[in-house]
Amino acid sequence: MQADLILKNANLPDGRTGIDIACKDGKIIEIGPQLPILAAEEIDCDGMLVSPPFVDSHFHMDATLSLGLPRMNESGTLLEGIALWGELKPLLTIEAVIERALRYCDLAVSKGLLAIRSHVDVCDDRLLAVDALLDVKKQVAPYIDLQLVAFPQDGYLRSPTAKQNVIRALDKGVDVVGGIPHFERTMADGAQSITELCEMAANRDLRVDMHCDETDDPLSRHIEMLAYETQRLGLQGRVAGSHLTSMHSMDNYYVSKLIALMTEAEVSAIANPLINITLQGRHDTYPKRRGMTRVPELRKAGLTVAFGHDCVMDPWYSMGSGDMLEVASMGLHVAQMTSRDDIRACFDAVTTEPAKIMGLEGYGIAVGNNADFVVLQARDTIEAIRLRANRLYVIRRGNIIAETPLQQTRLHLSERPETLRGDDYAPRSGDQQE
Ligand SMILES: [Zn+2]
Repeated sequence: MQADLILKNANLPDGRTGIDIACKDGKIIEIGPQLPILAAEEIDCDGMLVSPPFVDSHFHMDATLSLGLPRMNESGTLLEGIALWGELKPLLTIEAVIERALRYCDLAVSKGLLAIRSHVDVCDDRLLAVDALLDVKKQVAPYIDLQLVAFPQDGYLRSPTAKQNVIRALDKGVDVVGGIPHFERTMADGAQSITELCEMAANRDLRVDMHCDETDDPLSRHIEMLAYETQRLGLQGRVAGSHLTSMHSMDNYYVSKLIALMTEAEVSAIANPLINITLQGRHDTYPKRRGMTRVPELRKAGLTVAFGHDCVMDPWYSMGSGDMLEVASMGLHVAQMTSRDDIRACFDAVTTEPAKIMGLEGYGIAVGNNADFVVLQARDTIEAIRLRANRLYVIRRGNIIAETPLQQTRLHLSERPETLRGDDYAPRSGDQQE
């Protein structure tokens, strides 16, 4: 048998080592140690980690790389960010939005990030950002799975034309129904928006992903209604609550009831650690709350939990680099997920977990799946997060689409000239100490 590509001697995220992966016609055809298969192209992984690509299930591609337009967010708060975005929106041109989004997609590819769910603001009657990102989605399809969410940033009921704009956006081909219940005028309006939007999704057979309870107010409990409507409408496994930061501040007794409701409804959770730790707790003096949702508790209940990047250089966040390992690292620290299993779960939270939330088909290292991989300069997932490991190869459908040289430093120390590789620290990995 002749393959197109074979990866030799790889370590896999599940702990297997010394594994070969053979690929043909864009698919994985065989996995195992020392496969006797010839291939047109061979990559010697030399014990490096081969992972399925990174997945970001919460992003805003219509705003990315717009930092400083038309001005900086001086307070750094969520609300000034929303106001600033409101100032920028009428100034947007379709060409500029497309150019910035494509620039971000290039960066994403270089980081091995090959699937992104982006919210797109529909509270602009021109639906300019929708048209721009639908165009980008088509352009990047050969190398990035881009999924779009119709997001009524200014409120589905609060903004006079949002309702019709969500429908127009879905009619144009946007994939997922969004919402922002905590931003509606009243708790009752927030609940009403959830009911109407979930019904819309059920009627169109679409997924739902709402910005939900992105506030420190422990009484912001829209996630309860989102779980209720998910169950009532039979949308189990198709609904995600993004942010859910109010859960950080909720009463423990109430949360013990809430998580059970979420589990019944199979609602997924997407935390955005870089943004949550930056934007929440802004009304606190000291102690200052972290604001991120209860990731370990949600995981323990069996829910699907992902970490999203949310923002890169936009009105809400001036940092970020498209590196999902940075996102995983921040999630690990904020949630104090420090056991070996928990650290591995943080890697899953930027790969397999968001892939489930997006419903990606053919994702993951298994025979028959897409030949999509990242070869990382690390031995295992824990080392990958610790080092924000270099992406040696990024592979899509069996083709190398990005390549970065092995990272190494030549030391000029007297008597001991040495070359140090990024993954050369001893011990090699905590895994060997278990
Ligand atoms: Zn967001």
